Amino acid sequence: MGSIVLFGPPGAGKGTQAQRIMEHCGLPQVSTGDMLRAAIQAGSPVGMDAKAYMDRGALVPDEVILALIEERLKDDDAANGVMFDGFPRTIPQAEALSHLAEITHVLAIEVPDDRIVERICGRVTCGSCGTVFHDTFNPVPSDGCVCGSFVEKRRADDNESTVLSRLSAYHEQTSPLAAWYDERGLFHRVDGDRDIGEITADLLALLN
Ligand code: ADP
Ligand code: ADP
Repeated sequence: MGSIVLFGPPGAGKGTQAQRIMEHCGLPQVSTGDMLRAAIQAGSPVGMDAKAYMDRGALVPDEVILALIEERLKDDDAANGVMFDGFPRTIPQAEALSHLAEITHVLAIEVPDDRIVERICGRVTCGSCGTVFHDTFNPVPSDGCVCGSFVEKRRADDNESTVLSRLSAYHEQTSPLAAWYDERGLFHRVDGDRDIGEITADLLALLN
């Protein structure tokens, strides 16, 4: 078995879809954004370094990200592959990854820029279980989160000015990966500007 990459701009729905297809694929979600936020929370040196980049919506340096990934891939649950979410984000990261894991699919969730701000600015996560919701598009059920103990969590970088920086980082540094993976026959696109369930169905069809 190999690993999968979920690709797309910030707010495309990578995390949402990872949570929905994880069980089907039997691969753990590996989100570099979540790992960096955990490092910040823990007050580790990596977190201290990364925070300034994240706060201004810039990418964290490749060597920091690659060190985190190399460590993560040593865990037992990664032995049969993982589902990468938000990694790789630069050509050097993709090149390094090609020596660390076998990638079978890069699934790109395509969403136009003018949809991204509303997605990001309404994002809310359950602090207890990590499920991703949206104030308008995917609200927390009236009887609460699936985990039964909803704790509202919003990201410090989910504001309009940081989103614009994250989008330009995406266009300048990350979008060239589409051609890079396409040349290697691994790249698949799905229209991400639709119902969450329709996107999941398309992703599962591509994986089968
Ligand atoms: P990413 O991991 O790519 O940054 P998320 O999965 O966190 O994106 O989604 C960003 C926000 O958009 C969340 O609030 C999520 O609930 C919402 N969202 C995800 N997919 C859709 C969709 N297809 N339509 C509308 N909103 C969506
Ligand atoms: P989103 O997909 O909503 O932009 P993430 O949680 O994936 O959010 O990333 C949050 C921030 O963490 C990014 O803006 C960036 O600063 C940093 N980051 C996450 N993954 C990477 C990566 N692979 N390379 C560089 N920086 C990263």
